[in-house]
Amino acid sequence: MSVPIVRTVAELRTVVAGWRRSGASVAVVPTMGALHEGHLSLVRAALQQADQVIVTLFVNPKQFNSAADLAAYPRTENQDAAKLVPLGAHLLYVPDAEEMYPAGFATTVSVAAIGESLCGAFRPGHFDGVATVVAKLFLQTGADFAFFGEKDFQQLQLVRRMVKDLDIPTTVVACPTVREVDGLALSSRNVRLSPAERAIAPKLASVLVETAERLARGGPLLATLAEGRAATLAAGYREVEYLELRGEADLRPMTSVDRPARLLVAAWLGDTRLIDNVTTSPIGSTN
Ligand code: AMP
Repeated sequence: MSVPIVRTVAELRTVVAGWRRSGASVAVVPTMGALHEGHLSLVRAALQQADQVIVTLFVNPKQFNSAADLAAYPRTENQDAAKLVPLGAHLLYVPDAEEMYPAGFATTVSVAAIGESLCGAFRPGHFDGVATVVAKLFLQTGADFAFFGEKDFQQLQLVRRMVKDLDIPTTVVACPTVREVDGLALSSRNVRLSPAERAIAPKLASVLVETAERLARGGPLLATLAEGRAATLAAGYREVEYLELRGEADLRPMTSVDRPARLLVAAWLGDTRLIDNVTTSPIGSTN
């Protein structure tokens, strides 16, 4: 058994048109490959929702702002395809960079505000690359539903904003972050961690949870965030790019937990940049 693979927009459209003729609904799960349980949880959710599920594998050069990071990104197409067989995904779409961005390609989708802060401030152009490729994947697949992980919370909210603004008829569905038993959020980048770094890595999640709890109990914002940053560095992280409290829906800065919020972090462990986030609500609120 194997999952059928298509590599061109034309082949993809032919397959989807066949499904549409029989009245099937279609979901897409965009990924950059090196599939792990986090990705597979999205595929399972998509299979519950739609008749036909397309998984896309594309390491998008436009969303990398470092050539070294792009070159080092794991590429494991055969293993990825094998992991999708037992789940029952219907199609793997694996375009190459020339198919996605043919000579003369000149259009960029840019989502202001959401795309400029947090990761956007440290990775110039990253979210323009994400928005552009996700818009293309939605238009290429014509999917009714698209599944994204809360692991990349800023990306999720950016895609939601884009879909709303551009009237794209694809419903964005969010899935919870899948974690290792020690709390570390699954990520394709985790394979780069040395054994010593891997032992330190889960501290990022535990600091997030502790900081979120303290803020929800009314802890002073700036001091509590500063303590969270200090605890991350004390655990062995090299640099904390940001640890910030933002409004859940709009990702705007907040000064206290007076409504549902997200606590988001990006930090470097050696040469690996890890991100994570947790939700937090005022104590006693029903959200
Ligand atoms: P990526 O391949 O890293 O671009 O991720 C593809 C999709 O998988 C995105 O929607 C991510 O948010 C999602 N994803 C990555 N890691 C996790 C995780 N640990 N739990 C849930 N979803 C995830």
